[in-house]
Amino acid sequence: MKSYKKITETTEKNVVDKIYCNRCKKDMGNFEHEYEGGNVEVDPVYGSKRDGELYTLDLCDNCINWFFEQLTLVPKITYL
Ligand SMILES: [Zn+2]
Repeated sequence: MKSYKKITETTEKNVVDKIYCNRCKKDMGNFEHEYEGGNVEVDPVYGSKRDGELYTLDLCDNCINWFFEQLTLVPKITYL
């Protein structure tokens, strides 16, 4: 027979502390879904020089505009 007692355990987990723009280093706060800006995900396809790597960039609103200004062709846009 086993007898049981209650114990309190503490666990550690990673939470977002700060979000910085990857381009200009602007502090965008710490609320993952409540900042002005967004993120860009790049998943190089099989056979490319960066195959097997996944990039996620956080960009402030100004740098998102800068990012799109660098493109010479309009990317696919999905309106949510
Ligand atoms: Zn920025």
